[in-house]
Amino acid sequence: MNTTPLSLDEIYNLAYTSLSNNGCDEYNAEAVSTTVMHAERDGSVSHGLFRIPGYIASLKSKKVKGNSKPSNIFLTQNAIRVDGDYGFAPTAIKVGIPLLIDTTSKHGVGVLTITNTHHFAALWHETEAIAENNLIGIACTAYKPSVAPAGAKKPLFGTNPISFAWPRKNKTPIVYDMATSTMAMGEVQVAARDGHKVPYGTGLNKDGKKTDNPSEIANGGVLLTFGDYKGSAIAMMIELLAAGLVGDLFSFEAKDEDNNDGGPARGGEFIMALSPELIAGKDWNEHAEKFFKQMTSLEGVRLPGQRRHNNRNDKGPRHINTNLVEKIKSLI
Ligand code: NDP
Repeated sequence: MNTTPLSLDEIYNLAYTSLSNNGCDEYNAEAVSTTVMHAERDGSVSHGLFRIPGYIASLKSKKVKGNSKPSNIFLTQNAIRVDGDYGFAPTAIKVGIPLLIDTTSKHGVGVLTITNTHHFAALWHETEAIAENNLIGIACTAYKPSVAPAGAKKPLFGTNPISFAWPRKNKTPIVYDMATSTMAMGEVQVAARDGHKVPYGTGLNKDGKKTDNPSEIANGGVLLTFGDYKGSAIAMMIELLAAGLVGDLFSFEAKDEDNNDGGPARGGEFIMALSPELIAGKDWNEHAEKFFKQMTSLEGVRLPGQRRHNNRNDKGPRHINTNLVEKIKSLI
């Protein structure tokens, strides 16, 4: 694979210019470009510049509003709803997260439901922002069906990611962020693009047989959930929280509505925050640190989020797939 070195500023500018030249106003372009740049910075490549052609396709088809103006209402003193106004999710998240942090810091528990957005990004952006304010963050979202429930050969669930972040005083938070499928579809697409195999059993081909060929999974096949019926139960819970509770589309409904322009389908997101200070008490950090000490004393253990935070320390250029860079430039 040929790569082109781009600094973080160049990555941001490439994303920003391509989005603003295709209909995003300053607020929307800034929110999405920041998310894209942060993904490349941390090595979340399947949610960085790789997503720009999809974002642009959905601006061109007018499925997504590039001038969205998210609005918020308080459903209760600590349950907030942000209506994304049919824009990209980072714009609604930018409105909702500060409100969630504020109300959870006061009341101990807070819920943020995001509706009418198009989510194509990693979820650690939102949970990590919550944890950086000494709160626990949990987020999940559904997507169009590409994952079979346990026992089935046809898709019903999205790859339905869930992220959890735990704050640490004077340290980067613990953050996990994972699709409930064996792999994120973006990773499968990147593997197909780069000619790599995926682990056998990542998904089924169009005939319902297990395969290690990412193209067969992405084109007419289906992904499986991690951990068989246990992952399937978590994927179902995410459908219920991010669609049933939020009051937005289940994955199967998102598929029926979507125009298949290659950009993100419409849907909701469920985000929750908890204050360890108000719920566990003043020694919450020291207590949890004892646990992390035990955990990391075991040979072979690393804490989730560590790989990204290590990547973040590298201030140098990121090496981006040259075909992707050329493709984005051709869309400007
Ligand atoms: P991975 O399987 O790469 O990683 C899942 C989590 O496990 C990460 O938090 C990672 O931390 C952690 N981890 C990995 N290896 C280890 C290890 N050896 N020890 C401890 N922790 C480990 O992620 P996925 O492929 O499942 O998901 C990728 C992304 O796709 C996510 O960010 C998700 O939000 C996004 N996504 C978004 C969708 C959407 O609709 N918006 C749909 C589906 C997925 P670390 O980062 O430090 O490696």
